[in-house]
Amino acid sequence: MSTLLDGKALAKQVRSQLKQEVDALVEKGCTPGLDVILVGEDPASQIYVRNKHLACEKVGIRSRIHKLPADTPQQQLEDLLQSLNQDPQVHGILLQLPLPKGLDADAALLKIDPTKDVDGLHPDNLGLLAAGRPGLRPCTPQGCIALLDSISYDLKGKHAVVLGRSILVGKPVALLLLERHATVTICHSRTQDLPAVVRQADVLIAAVGQPHLVKADWLKPGAVVVDVGTNRLDDGRLVGDVDFEAAQSVVSAISPVPGGVGPMTITMLLVNTVAAAKKINGLA
Ligand code: NAP
Repeated sequence: MSTLLDGKALAKQVRSQLKQEVDALVEKGCTPGLDVILVGEDPASQIYVRNKHLACEKVGIRSRIHKLPADTPQQQLEDLLQSLNQDPQVHGILLQLPLPKGLDADAALLKIDPTKDVDGLHPDNLGLLAAGRPGLRPCTPQGCIALLDSISYDLKGKHAVVLGRSILVGKPVALLLLERHATVTICHSRTQDLPAVVRQADVLIAAVGQPHLVKADWLKPGAVVVDVGTNRLDDGRLVGDVDFEAAQSVVSAISPVPGGVGPMTITMLLVNTVAAAKKINGLA
């Protein structure tokens, strides 16, 4: 039977440690603060933002949500980012993506002070990651690594295969795996004979957004699988990119969907906010 990479349980544990850290910071006069900007009425984004707000409150991070209408001009959005950059009570700024049509997300992200970029998506932070230097790391990739760490998995010399090359997940997770001395292969929609590449994986990180793309017979016996994919089926069920049920009898460990990477992504946002607050206040 395979080990479950239980993101829910791990998130609970990390958040409880984080609460103690936040309490200690508050005693020193520094309350970590996260400001989230939500533009438009996208229902999924509204749920994500609310979940982030509740998670902040539970660990003692001050959290504010700035709701802007879908027709907000780019300049107004960038002015708000600028004012948050200058506000000493704000340690983390998160621009909820995707933005409504007509707004330029890349241009807006560039306006966020990299020291407050708790999503780790500012080109400065991605550059620091590529250079192997300290900086704020993107949340979902960090969550994947934390799940592997939770079973003390040693990545050194292992063949890690990453499915997906997005800037949000695939590319940064590949760099984090490389930092841990894994041999990394990145796959995408043009990769030839995907099953054959996946069969070589000691560790598989699946982040394509295709329900049950990865079949059990694509997996190397004993492999460790982190499933980032979050796909809503017509019947309302949420499933990953890997056929979880069938894979369980082949792999040595696997993360479920839901309850795997998802809770760890929010947890890493909290971790980044606390880290940013410490750094900005010279307490790191
Ligand atoms: P994305 O920007 O759409 O990127 C998907 C990547 O998968 C692309 O690189 C694409 O290749 C590749 N791909 C698509 N179909 C493929 C196929 N059949 N074979 C091989 N590669 C294929 O998506 P994303 O933002 O990285 O997210 C990926 C998944 O993770 C989604 O399900 C998303 O909902 C989920 N997600 C979950 C969390 C969480 O916290 N749990 C966070 C972020 C994302 P090309 O580059 O060639 O197009």
